[in-house]
Amino acid sequence: MADTPENPGTVLTMRQVVTRFGEHVVHNGVDLTVRRAEIFAVIGGSGSGKSTLLREMILLHTPSAGHINVLGVDLAHITDAAALALRQRFGVLFQYGGLFGALTVLQNIGLPLREHRQLDDPAVDAIAAQKLAAVGLDAAVGSQYPSELSGGMLKRAALARALVLEPELLFLDEPTAGLDPQSAAGIDALVLGLRQQSGLSIVMITHDLDLLWQVADRVAVLADGKVQAIGPMAELATLDNPAIQPFFNGPRARAAQAQAIEPTPTQPKEPSSKPK
Ligand code: ADP
Ligand code: MG
Repeated sequence: MADTPENPGTVLTMRQVVTRFGEHVVHNGVDLTVRRAEIFAVIGGSGSGKSTLLREMILLHTPSAGHINVLGVDLAHITDAAALALRQRFGVLFQYGGLFGALTVLQNIGLPLREHRQLDDPAVDAIAAQKLAAVGLDAAVGSQYPSELSGGMLKRAALARALVLEPELLFLDEPTAGLDPQSAAGIDALVLGLRQQSGLSIVMITHDLDLLWQVADRVAVLADGKVQAIGPMAELATLDNPAIQPFFNGPRARAAQAQAIEPTPTQPKEPSSKPK
């Protein structure tokens, strides 16, 4: 049911989305389409509006204008009941995890099931344990508390919770931020594996160039309030749009750290000589 009749194979569309905070225009006509079973990334400099865009996709913020459709549901004028139903069809991995410290890992993972499904405790624990294994954590981790886990394990546990309702669409906000390279590489492989196993569609915000090059199918570049380009990294790398170039400048761009793709003022390669 997720496909709109006009767009089979589409899980999310934004059309002419405008977002203002007072006088400040963050998005000034954002257009993008996420296809079923693709891994779609959004990149952009600090303050370009990535997190706000994600919040709009997951019904935490309403844009000032424009249209958003998620899994076939138009978000404009959505009823509370429809929003509740839609929220159970996508999972979100927030940047700062959001596991409850007073609950064990297994209890955290089972929480959405307790809220939204009529299941007894053993059934909840069995599904939670299955998700724990699916994200590559040992069964013993289930009885630990979040404070006992490393950063990479926390991300995995939070991911297990995001997956526990079998979502059709998964949103990841900076899934590898703050992780050591080995843990980050583990998350890369995990994200790829998820899509291959379940045909899940994934939207992620990331600065991680390994994720962008090795995992994302297509990448949208957000700058100056609009999507400047959308495509695989290899294709974006060939464009000479000055708004895009800062993300790809330099031979070491692929190995660069997060701050390497914060846009810095650069000049177009050739000054425009076209008459007005
Ligand atoms: P990014 O995630 O790309 O760094 P954000 O989406 O967090 O960017 O923010 C984009 C811009 O919108 C920033 O200038 C930020 O200050 C502003 N902004 C975000 N949320 C709010 C808010 N609730 N109220 C006012 N301004 C906001
Ligand atoms: Mg942000």
